[in-house]
Formats: sequence, structure tokens, C-alpha cells
Amino acid sequence: MSEPGDEELEFDEEAWTAGGSPLDRAAFNSDGLLPAIIQQEGTGEVLMLGWMDREAMRRTLTEGRVTFWSRSRQEYWRKGDTSGHVQYVRAAALDCDADTLLVTVEQVGAACHTGTRTCFDGDPLDVRRGIPPAAAD
Ligand SMILES: [Zn+2]
Repeated sequence: MSEPGDEELEFDEEAWTAGGSPLDRAAFNSDGLLPAIIQQEGTGEVLMLGWMDREAMRRTLTEGRVTFWSRSRQEYWRKGDTSGHVQYVRAAALDCDADTLLVTVEQVGAACHTGTRTCFDGDPLDVRRGIPPAAAD
């Protein structure tokens, strides 16, 4: 029943899914970083975007709190350590080509350091709204 190549295919699939560490599957950029989108559980609000290196991603997946790498300060930081606006990890997923991480969280208070709920609340832009063509009869 099995055809040539089945075994190899099976091995690859295992490495990609159950057997592969997400830290090994993640495609960090040339600076060793991965953008992480932080989303509120339940409401789906997009709260903010931060950067993680391998260690920040490991901490995020294993410690229950979101940890980022600060490119400006060159150090790890956890949301809420100074503000109290903690992000508790609820779920995480890599995107289709593993170069972006989505972390679903329970956000305490404001996600943005400016005090707004999300980083995207403060500056809505004017856009031309696209409208799908009306259904033709
Ligand atoms: Zn912000």
C-alpha cells in the first residue's frame, strides 16, 4: 500500500508539526527577530506589535507573560512590569510562513504606552473605502 517516498514524507510532516519545536520553526529575520502581533482574547482587538528574538519567544511560550526584545534599549522587557498593564498569554500561533507570531492575550488596562487601549486607536487615517461590486442579477 505504501508507495516509495511515503516514509520521507511522513518524517517531514512530523518535523514540521508535532515534532518540531516552534522556536526552530520560527523564521527570525537577519537581525534574529520576529514581529509579534498581540491580540486580545475574545474581542479580537489588535493591541500592539513588538519584536521577539528566540529567547523572548521562548519566555513568552513558557512563562505566561509576553516578553519582547527592545531594539532601542537592546534588552528584554515584559509588558506591565512598570505600568501594571500586564499581558497574560492565552494562545500563540505562527503565520503560514512562520515569520510572524500571533499571541492572544488577556490585556490588563492599556496596551499602548501612550495610555490608549491599543496602539492603533490614536491616529485613524482617511481612506477611500472599497465597496464590493453589487451582486449581479
Ligand atoms: Zn503603542
